[in-house]
Order: sequence, then C-alpha cells, then structure tokens
Amino acid sequence: MGTDQLDQLRRDAHAQLDAARTTDELSDWHARYLGRKGALTDAMRQLGALSDEERPAFGKAVNALKTELSDAFEARQEIVRGAQLNEHLASDAIDVTLPGRPVDLGTLHPITQLVREVSSIFAHLGFQTIEGPEVEDAYYAFDALNIPKDHPARDVWDTIFVQSESREIVLRPHTSPMQVRTMERLKPPVRVIVPGRCYRYEALDATHEWHFQQVEGLAVDEHLTMTDLKGTLAEFARQLFGPQRKVRFRCDYFPFVEPGVDFAIDCMVCHGDGCRVCKGTGWIEILGAGMVHPNVLANVGYDPDRYTGWAFGCGFERLAMLKYGITDIRAFYQSDLRFLSQFDRATA
Ligand SMILES: [Zn+2]
Repeated sequence: MGTDQLDQLRRDAHAQLDAARTTDELSDWHARYLGRKGALTDAMRQLGALSDEERPAFGKAVNALKTELSDAFEARQEIVRGAQLNEHLASDAIDVTLPGRPVDLGTLHPITQLVREVSSIFAHLGFQTIEGPEVEDAYYAFDALNIPKDHPARDVWDTIFVQSESREIVLRPHTSPMQVRTMERLKPPVRVIVPGRCYRYEALDATHEWHFQQVEGLAVDEHLTMTDLKGTLAEFARQLFGPQRKVRFRCDYFPFVEPGVDFAIDCMVCHGDGCRVCKGTGWIEILGAGMVHPNVLANVGYDPDRYTGWAFGCGFERLAMLKYGITDIRAFYQSDLRFLSQFDRATA
C-alpha cells in the first residue's frame, strides 16, 4: 500500500462516514476502518513489507489518518445521536391539549358506609366506638357471657373453632365478647359500641352468610333501666330508618341478658299494613337486646347490686338489606361492581 492508496482510503472513509445516518451504520463504519480487523489495522500490518526508508513516513501517515478518522467519527456520532433524539422526541410528542383519561374512583363498601353511619348516630348519643379481636378465647365468647360449657344455648351459635385442645379458641360468632373485655378494662359508666366481623359455620343462602358484621352496644352505670334501653334504641332506629318509625319491644331470650327483648320497627314498605318484606306482620325485627345479666356483671368484677346495664347486638347486613331493599345477603360479598357502585356516597 502506498501513499496514494492511503489517500483513497481517507476519501472513502470520509464519504461513508458522512453517509452514516444511524448508530448501527456508525458502528459498521467503525468496524470497517478503525476496528481490530479494519482497514487501518491492515495498513499498519503492511509496514513490515516496506523498506527502511519508506517505513517511518508511511507509519506516521497511517497514525495521522487514524487520529483524523477517530476525531471525525466522534463528531459524526454526536450529530447522528442528536438527530435520532430529535426524531424520537418528534414522534413521541405529548399533546398536552388532550383531555385526561378519567380515573375511576372507588367507593366505600355499603357495609362500611353503614358502620360509619351507625357509629356516628351512637357517637351523638355519647357512645364510644371500639373494636376487638376476631379470633377469640371461648371464655369471652361464651363462658363469661353466662353460657358455660355444655349449656344448650352454646349450640345456637354455629361456631368455627380454631383450636380446641388446651384452650378453646374460636372465630368470634358475635361481637358480645367485647362486652366482657370492655368491662374488664373500664370502670362504669361504660357506653360503647363495637362494630366488627363475626363468623359462623353456616350454609350460604339468601339470608345467611358465614361471615358478617355485627354491632354490639353496651351501657353500664348506676340506675340504668329498661327505659334507657328503649329510649336509646328507638332514637337509633328513627335516625337510621326515618323519624316516623314506630318501635316495638317484645320478650326474647339471650343467655347474657335478663330480661331480653327483640326490637322491631314498623315496616317501612307497608307502614304496618302487612306485606312480603314484613311477612304480613307489619313489623320488622332489627335487633336483640336486654338488661345485662347480673352473672355477666359479676364475672367482670362489677357489683350487680350497684350497677345495671343494657346491651344490644345486630347485624349490619340485615340493617343494610332493610335500608336499601336488598333481598340477597350474598350480594354484599361477591365484589360485583355493578352492585357496589350503586352505593356511591361521598362519605369518605
Ligand atoms: Zn310490610
């Protein structure tokens, strides 16, 4: 290779470099001229074939060309990168004038909304909202509530047992254990409501869920009577179901109260005339209540001669079904957005 060929090489290299438009073409070019197997490496290898006189000048020329082409390569690389970036920005441009995509806002579950509404009603009546454990010692779920082992009433709750060897542990079948836990912790006067999940070994149908939410209410003080129970529950029902609601109390039995009552409101569909919702009776039972049994008070160390109390428990799903006219309890927990999005209220 002589100086002429080197000149040719230079012209070709520059021409091809100027023609390179992409980074791929640039790296091809780099391999062709400056790479380990490139044209300039070839030229250097030919030094050995030259005479002693020719060799220094040719070597110098090859080195100079190598530097020249390296600089040219870097310059061209800058240009190509800049051009590619501009092209990318142009093709990927964001049109800031486009309207945004709508964001679907979630809504609170209807039961959560009702829990908050009930808590708020009772807060205005002076009740504190507290929560308790869902996995519960059977002592709190039954024994302390005047339902000792082998008591037939214990079968009424289709309880799910977690462990039953040394200690009986259950998924709480009602929120009533918190009556005991609360009284163990506090001195009277006590005014609390306890909303929360409960579990029972139930076959699923339109009116039974194996897990559901209850609210427990408890008031203990000196001189509390059935009148306090009636007044508070009537006020609660009227705030939840409308101020015109009539209320009815009838005798009922629960082991942890004496006396016990079932509490009903007049049917909001037929206003007492009798219809399918109230099964022709004109009344709808919404909860069970009663005066706290003296044994329960004694179990937590309260003096039953000095203190009296009343308590109630009711299911949120039942309240919600009545309030919203829902006929199947399973609808609450099937996560069907067509159902859930109907309860789109701004209570968050
Ligand atoms: Zn009715």
